[in-house]
Amino acid sequence: MNVVKVIEYLLKIGEPKFRLNQILESYYLAKFKSFDEMTNISKDLRQKLSDNFNFLSVEEDGIVESKNSIKARLKLIDNLQIETVFLKYKEWNTVCVSTQVGCAMGCTFCATGQMGLKRNLTCEEIIDQIIYWKQKGVEVDRIVFMGMGEPFLNWLNVKKAIEEIHDNLKIGWRKMTVSTVGVINGIRDFTSWEKEVNLAISLHSLNQGIREKIMPSAKVHKLNELVKSCHRYTNQTKRLLFFEYALMDGVNDTDTDAQKLADLVNSNKLFFANIIKLNSVKNSKINPSKRTVQFCRILDSNRVKYSRRMSMGGEIKGACGQLIS
Ligand code: SAH
Ligand code: SF4
Repeated sequence: MNVVKVIEYLLKIGEPKFRLNQILESYYLAKFKSFDEMTNISKDLRQKLSDNFNFLSVEEDGIVESKNSIKARLKLIDNLQIETVFLKYKEWNTVCVSTQVGCAMGCTFCATGQMGLKRNLTCEEIIDQIIYWKQKGVEVDRIVFMGMGEPFLNWLNVKKAIEEIHDNLKIGWRKMTVSTVGVINGIRDFTSWEKEVNLAISLHSLNQGIREKIMPSAKVHKLNELVKSCHRYTNQTKRLLFFEYALMDGVNDTDTDAQKLADLVNSNKLFFANIIKLNSVKNSKINPSKRTVQFCRILDSNRVKYSRRMSMGGEIKGACGQLIS
């Protein structure tokens, strides 16, 4: 729901403050799925609201379920489609949201990258992905901005959405994670924003040439500058920084690659690596590595702080990088 517009409208037609709160609360708590269902307000007002606004800016257009995850394809008002994933972990529920329709960054191992960018999502469309899951009865504990799109190329809307999620959906800053391909000015803005939201950097290689090949945006956002901005981030925020590293066969999985990653993570006590299993993507020549064990052995012998991230939803094409309509 476009909260700003709805508030403006309600004030214009002279509705009292408590009514505004009543309506907003119903929306944020996802008690109802439409204005029609809001029997706590007059029929006349319900009618006016549904004539003028969409209760939700996204509409379910298909879901695929697996044991611990559900992927939903959502249709936007202009008929474009995005995807959002619900991931059920032992101790919490995470929702993965999209920030753009498609993505302009063109990473060769990512399904979204093959679509190109259609457009940015509005703040309303970002939040409505979460309200959508809440309406289905999901208790949302954590949010990751790891769906379609590059959050820092739609930062104003993503930032507004995070603030609204914190203030009104009551999800703590520390329960949210923004993942970036490495947009350096975005990392700078994020650092000076000074919120305790987690930051993840999609690193995938410590070789400038290889990064350029698999992540074309690395031509602009150079590795040495990226690493500098990561140190600046931890120096200023004193918070952990996560490096995402998906192991790709013959691309970034040699012993030398592992040693480079070990050296980087060990260069700063706030650095942490997430070793991810690559999910196969149609039309991509890049395959999952067969050297995960050897790679991790080198990290272990260097006492690197890392985790092997559980990949969920791979079987429903709902895992990272497989979000494509
Ligand atoms: N654009 C942002 C956030 C969305 S992508 C970014 O790139 O960080 C979310 C994560 O999924 C990133 O870490 C990305 O590198 C990873 N990813 C993309 N394709 C993948 C694939 N095929 N297998 C595993 N992870 C993938
Ligand atoms: Fe875009 Fe992230 Fe996919 Fe790269 S990995 S194409 S930045 S969504």
